[in-house]
Formats: sequence, C-alpha cells, structure tokens
Amino acid sequence: MAILSGRAKLAGVMGWPVSHSRSPGLHGYWLEHYGVDGAYVPLAVVPDRLRDAIGGLVALGFRGVNLTLPHKEAALGHVDDLSATARRIGAVNTIVVGADGKLRGDNTDAFGFLEHLKASAPQWRADARPVAVLGAGGAARAVIVALLDEGVIELRLINRSPERASKLREAFGPAITVVDWAARSTALSDVSLLVNATSLGMSGQAPLDLALDRLNQTTVVYDLVYAPLDTPLLKAARQRGNAVVDGLGMLLHQARPGFQAWFGVEPEVTAALRAFVLDDLKA
Ligand code: NAP
Repeated sequence: MAILSGRAKLAGVMGWPVSHSRSPGLHGYWLEHYGVDGAYVPLAVVPDRLRDAIGGLVALGFRGVNLTLPHKEAALGHVDDLSATARRIGAVNTIVVGADGKLRGDNTDAFGFLEHLKASAPQWRADARPVAVLGAGGAARAVIVALLDEGVIELRLINRSPERASKLREAFGPAITVVDWAARSTALSDVSLLVNATSLGMSGQAPLDLALDRLNQTTVVYDLVYAPLDTPLLKAARQRGNAVVDGLGMLLHQARPGFQAWFGVEPEVTAALRAFVLDDLKA
C-alpha cells in the first residue's frame, strides 16, 4: 500500500460499477514505478450524481479523472471545455483540472489505438489502401477518428445495424463507405488494415464469424477485444501469416496522456507493464 504525504497528487476513475476497471492497477503501477507521491482511486459514482461528482473534483483538489461506463457520453455536458477529439468521438474518457480550476474533457482512445498500431505494425501506411472497420459503437467512433486523422482515404464501415453505420458516415463524411454486414468477408480483399471494434469474440459474447481467405498477405489485423487477449480472429490471422495487433496495448496507451497531465511524468508502455495488467485481467 502506498504511503501518501499531504501533498499527494490525486486522480481516479469514475464508473458505475467501477470494480471491473483496470485503470487503478495500471496507474498504480506507474505511480510506484516512477516514485510519484500520488494516488489513483476507483470512484463508484451513480449516474444521477455524475454532475455533482465531477463538480466536486476542483473543491477536493483532484488533478482529474478518467471516465468509464456508463459516464463517457454524459460527461460531455459536465466540463468547461472540450477537446476537438472528444467532441468528434462524442465521449469524454479523461478530465484534467487546469491551473485556473477549469475542467477540460478529452478522449484519448483514438490516441491509444494509433500508438499501439504504430508500435506493433510500423510497416502499416494509412494512405496506401482502404481499411475495414467492423462495428459502429463507441469504440468504432474512436477508431474512425484516429484513422481519418492519420490520412486514411477509404474506410469501409461494416456493422450489423446499417443505420448506425450510416449515421457515422453522415458525421464523418465521404471517406466512410457503408458495407452490409452480410458482405463483411468479401469486402476485405484489398484492405491494408482490418479492425474488429465489435464485442464479438469477447469472452461471454458470440464468436465473430468472418472468413479471412480474401485478406491480402500484408493486411494488418487489429482486434480491440482484449479478453481473451489472443482472440480467435487474431489466431486465425496469425496462422495465415498476417501481422496482428491485440486490444491490450490500446488500453495501456490511452492512459498515457492522463497520467502525464495529472502526475507530471510521461509514462512508458513496457513489457513489464503489459505482464502486470495481464495478470490483473486474469485475477
Ligand atoms: P458498443 O458501443 O456496445 O458497440 C458494440 C458493437 O458490437 C456494435 O457495433 C454492435 O453492432 C456490435 N455487435 C454486438 N453484438 C453483435 C452481434 N451479435 N453481431 C454483430 N455485431 C454485434 O461497444 P464499444 O464500447 O464500442 O466496444 C466494442 C468492443 O471494443 C468491446 O469488446 C470492448 O471491450 C472493446 N474496446 C476495447 C478497447 C481497448 O482499449 N482495447 C476500448 C474500447 C472498447 P450493432 O450496432 O448492430 O448493435
């Protein structure tokens, strides 16, 4: 257990429930590793007290918080200032209390997605060929923002409910092409990147039924699902010789900007951190 001084820097994560969150373990690892006098605490906040809880951060001297389910969208309305990324994704996962006491809402999921992609598949180029994204929920929105900002020219959006994908096309423009769920396997022939941003393949959920035989040998396959870490999609892709990117790195990288803003240290995602969080996931 950490020993705190009266000057300890404070941050945490608000969720309901919050007990499933891996963020206290992850930030706690960095706090100890970098010898920071600080604490990152789980904050169980019921949805109808979110405004009060966020408003209380300044009075309590918190440096900021992360938001997890179900608070990410509601938090948009409870901050003084929103980053352009948070506005485009339509969700806040990180709040930083400024020196002036103002609350700034940001979303670091797009950053985490891209940092992990660049670290795991440095050969991938955004403007080379189309990309395919399965899913049109909150995670998919962050992936879309990341890929469009990186210069992707054509993004094939494949979702079970077509109206949800069409809404994203309206929001993000003509680089998005909506593809029927039934055509998900045939739409993969010339893509440079395939991303699973659905919950399919996650433990306790239905499997992802997807044929990979049209995939090019150079296609990078990225699964956002991290429980299990080695999903059936990643196993099948690896077996055919495709480069694969797992979902855990995104979770780790998205935490970096918050830690730096609250605790003043730029943290690193290392093999030791991955092993620590993996152990935590198994516990
Ligand atoms: P969400 O908003 O609930 O969206 C779920 C998506 O999965 C929707 O596109 C939904 O399609 C699709 N889906 C669910 N059941 C399906 C089925 N039986 N058949 C076809 N499609 C189905 O969830 P989310 O927040 O975007 O999260 C999606 C996944 O990403 C989860 O596994 C989550 O753990 C993971 N994730 C990982 C990270 C990370 O850091 N690695 C970050 C965020 C999320 P419909 O629109 O048709 O319902």
